[in-house]
Amino acid sequence: TLSKRTFDRVLLKISGEALMGDQGYGLHPPTVQRIAREVQSVYDLGVEICMVIGGGNIFRGLQGSAQGMERTTADYMGMLATVMNALAMQSALEELGIHTRVISAITMNEVAEPYIRRRAVRHLEKKRVCIFAAGTGNPYFTTDTAATLRASEMDCQAIFKGTKVDGVYDKDPTKHDDAKRYEKITYDEVLQKHLGVMDASAIALARDNDLPIVVFSLDEPGGFKGILAGEGTYTIVR
Ligand code: UDP
Repeated sequence: TLSKRTFDRVLLKISGEALMGDQGYGLHPPTVQRIAREVQSVYDLGVEICMVIGGGNIFRGLQGSAQGMERTTADYMGMLATVMNALAMQSALEELGIHTRVISAITMNEVAEPYIRRRAVRHLEKKRVCIFAAGTGNPYFTTDTAATLRASEMDCQAIFKGTKVDGVYDKDPTKHDDAKRYEKITYDEVLQKHLGVMDASAIALARDNDLPIVVFSLDEPGGFKGILAGEGTYTIVR
């Protein structure tokens, strides 16, 4: 279980939708601020924090391509959406007095630092929260894969995937009353059962790098900090 380990460096992955609050689209600043405070509570424990934020609250490549856009162009638009979310999170964290860097996989020097692995590691050592933006920089990937990639590169001990529900269920818990939550589950089971924790390439990359994924609810106040202390409910994929 988690309680027996202490975490020095972790990566928090949230979807873009986590930032839109009750709106159907875009950014809801009070919600961004609430999540920033969750991050602060863990930061204050001395944990080094990486973040990857999705872009689905603004644009998803697959949606664009379903409507006739060229897929790669649509994916680049999705990646740009993640940069906006990263900047919103940066602003909220800096407002709390936390030093941050937005590090983009697509160079846009006026807005964010380019991704240079050693430099990012140095930021973490200096207790700056690193927000990795623009996914992997490649179309056909997701920000879940980007999270797994960056967590591996930064040598994080785990990925914490904050979602709307408190773990991985055998079926959608928002639709089925009898859905059961797994305490733990293997990467291979997630893949075989097609459980929608993360896409298959992200799960496979985590498996190949022995990177545990902790799925927990971000809606629970104090949840992120609690989970790091081994409290609350969650599912660990490993
Ligand atoms: N994307 C991409 N390559 C990446 C990461 C993201 O092409 O490495 C694009 C893709 O179109 C995706 C969009 O960016 O749909 C937004 O990311 P994602 O869907 O992962 O966001 P989330 O669902 O977590 O909000």
